This record gives sequence, structure tokens and C-alpha cells, in this order.
Amino acid sequence: MRIVIVGAGPAGVTVAETLREHDSQAEIVMLTDEPYPPYSPPAMVTYFETGEPVHFWRGQDLAERLRLVYWRGTRVAGVEPAAHRVRLQGGEVLAYDRLVIASGGRLYAPLAGADKPGVYNFKSLSAAEELLARVRSGQATTALVVGAGFIGVEIGLLLADMGLAVTQLVRSRVMRSMLDSETSALVLAMMQERGIHVLRGDEADAVAFLGEPRAEAVELRSGARLAADLLVAATGLRPNIEFLAGSGIETTVGVIVDDHLRTSDPDIYAAGDVAETKDRFTGERQVHAIFPNAVEQGRVVGLNLLGRDVAYQGAGNMNSLKHLGLPVMAVGRMEGEELRAGHKGTLRKLYLQGGRIIGFRLVGDISCAGVYLSLMNRREDVRALRHRLLEPDFGVHMLAPE
Ligand SMILES: Cc1cc2nc3c(=O)[nH]c(=O)nc-3n(C[C@H](O)[C@H](O)[C@H](O)COP(=O)(O)OP(=O)(O)OC[C@H]3O[C@@H](n4cnc5c(N)ncnc54)[C@H](O)[C@@H]3O)c2cc1C
Repeated sequence: MRIVIVGAGPAGVTVAETLREHDSQAEIVMLTDEPYPPYSPPAMVTYFETGEPVHFWRGQDLAERLRLVYWRGTRVAGVEPAAHRVRLQGGEVLAYDRLVIASGGRLYAPLAGADKPGVYNFKSLSAAEELLARVRSGQATTALVVGAGFIGVEIGLLLADMGLAVTQLVRSRVMRSMLDSETSALVLAMMQERGIHVLRGDEADAVAFLGEPRAEAVELRSGARLAADLLVAATGLRPNIEFLAGSGIETTVGVIVDDHLRTSDPDIYAAGDVAETKDRFTGERQVHAIFPNAVEQGRVVGLNLLGRDVAYQGAGNMNSLKHLGLPVMAVGRMEGEELRAGHKGTLRKLYLQGGRIIGFRLVGDISCAGVYLSLMNRREDVRALRHRLLEPDFGVHMLAPE
């Protein structure tokens, strides 16, 4: 049996590891358009800060250890489900018995001129290396980061730490989809403390990258023009599904999968940032582009390829900022009743619905995150604990039977 995996990110790697753990015989072919061994994007900032190759999270010898046929620098250009084969960029074809689409996402930049040379991003290691090469070569001492979602904040902080004068454009608020306005304001203040010059609201509404042939400035809706040595787009993500055009595999924003992460073709599965999966709590189908979801989906796909009949329990929504100086964690939704406590430089916010925790935001001290997460995942009714949930030392010992 030949299993072809498109993508060597956390989802694809976990599929391969799960398969190899239980099947020593399967032929596993992993294709990636990048020139590196499999890496973990969340570890890229630490790698660039320290030089330590921590982003090769499963070791640089992963392909040898798992006995993968690992084709790097190989872009998949099309899929032909009826013929059970994929078409590669160079025109070659590769047959499969089962196919896994784990092609992740890429930068989405809805600004005119975003495809010009001179517009950098931090979505992949290739893109990040290109960006950092410009900094290391001394060609950039000023940077303009368009966008302040999770990746925008990470890259803004990294560039500031590397000594660049960084301006960040924050059109609404920092990490708007993940943080409530109070937590978001705290993160913004910390970015400013780290020396980032933040422009907000109308004066941060970018519409185009200007310059010919190379982008050299950003045009704002007001007509103003901001120039910098390094222009970085951090404006959003879109699943990599272009190569599925004409294949008949159903997609909307991402690849549509059933509860077993199978696509509309029974021999093709999808996992990670490219897949539209159901939310564990709301049941809504959407792309949940975070690392733990990619890994869990990879595991479920691996087990189903082994014939195990495993249903995916649904994606969660969790993220943490690691390079801000203070830990910040965002889990689940920000609706329902809000419980809040600020204590000695820390902030805890819990969101409750029907007596159950549906989300929380933590700043400064995240030691109670595991307990909140466990209560949330078990959908436990916390009404009896309500008055203690926000106590500074709330933790596992408080859940023990009295
Ligand atoms: C800077 C940064 C920081 C992040 N930090 C966090 C964090 O702290 N916590 C967290 O939970 N998440 C974080 N994320 C998100 C997390 O990295 C992703 O959710 C995760 O990498 C998704 O894994 P994936 O395998 O689905 O996709 P990806 O990691 O995107 O991997 C996709 C793979 O597919 C390949 N590919 C794509 N198209 C093709 C093609 N046509 N042919 C061949 N190969 C192809 C790519 O080269 C790549 O190997 C971060 C992301 C970035 C960029």
C-alpha cells in the first residue's frame, strides 16, 4: 500500500508517525515544496532568536527514522482521484493507494501589490529565511508590519528584538479574533514597551504596497505613504487548496471532511490548517489553524488509514504568546457571562455559559490553564466552584473531593 502525504508540517508528520508506529510495511511518500526537513512553524521565532534548530521538532533525521520517501522541493500541482495519482509541478505523476492532503495554509494579503518583490511574510520557513536574510545582511534597519494577528505580533517582536525600528499597523485591535479588548490592550501596551511604534485605526488602514518593480512603501486609505526597508504582510491565512482545482474534491474555504477526516473522495483524507473541521464545542465547521489541532487530526487520519474507524472529536481554539515577556493565553470563546480578576500584574478572564466554562484568557500567570481546560473539555458544571474559580491559587488541589 502506498500512502502519499502532501505536506510536511505538523499534520503530515503526525500522519506518518502514526502510520509507522503500527505498520512497518506501508510505503509512505511525503512531498513538500520546501527545501527543509519537516519543521514546526511555532518554533521559528525561537530558532531565529537563538540559532538553535528547535524548529526541527521531530529531529532532522525524521524521514530516515520513519523510512519515508521524502521528496523536498516538490510541489504538487494537481490531483486526479479517478486515476489515483497526483501531478507534480515538473509534469511527473505519482500513483497512490491513499492520499492525505496536509498542505496547510499560506499568507492571504488582500492589498494591491502584495505579490510584488519586497513584500515579506513569516508564514513558512522559506519565507521567514528570506525575510531574515534581508535583516542579517544589514539591508534593513526599519520595518513596517501590516497586521497584528498572532503571527504579526510574533514577527513584530522578533524584529524589534533584532534591533530594527518597527512600526506595526493595527487596524482594529491586536489579535482581535483571539483576545477581548482588555487583554488586547495589555498586549498592545507590552508591544509598545518593547519599542514597537503602533499605528491604529484609520491611520493604520493599509490599501496597497507601492513601488516598481519592488515594493518600498505602504499606501494608507488616507492617502498617506509609509516607507520602510522591510515591508511585512501579516494580514491573514488561507488554506493551500489551489492544486485541488478540477479534482472534484469538495472545498469551500478549506477542504471539506467528514467526522473521520475523509474528504468527498473515500481514498483521500485531509488534516491540519487546510481542512475545515468541526468545532468541539459549537459543532461549526471551519478552519482551525493551530498546532494542537493539526497534530490531533494527523493522528486521527493515521489511525483511520490503518483501518481503525476513529471519529474526530472536534477542534479546539487555543493559543499562547510566548515571546512577549509575559505569558498570554487565549482558549475558546469570548461570549456569555464574563468573570474577571486582576491580581498583581496578572489578569484572568473566564467565560461561562449554562454554568460551563466555554473560554478563558490569562495574562501573566497561566498556571491554572490546565485545570480550566480540563473543566472546559469535560463540560463540567462549575457553578458550585464559581466563587473560587478566580482565586489566585485555584488549581488541581481545589478540585479534590472535600
Ligand atoms: C510564525 C508562526 C507561529 C505559530 N505559532 C503557533 C503557536 O504558538 N501555537 C499554535 O497552536 N499554532 C501556531 N502556529 C500555527 C501552526 O504552525 C499551524 O497550525 C500548523 O503548522 C499547521 O500544520 P499543517 O501541517 O496543517 O500545515 P503547515 O505547517 O502549514 O504545513 C504545510 C506543508 O504543506 C506543504 N505544501 C503546501 N502546499 C504544497 C504543495 N502544493 N505541494 C507540496 N507541498 C505543499 C508546505 O510546504 C508544508 O510542508 C504558528 C504559525 C506560524 C506561521
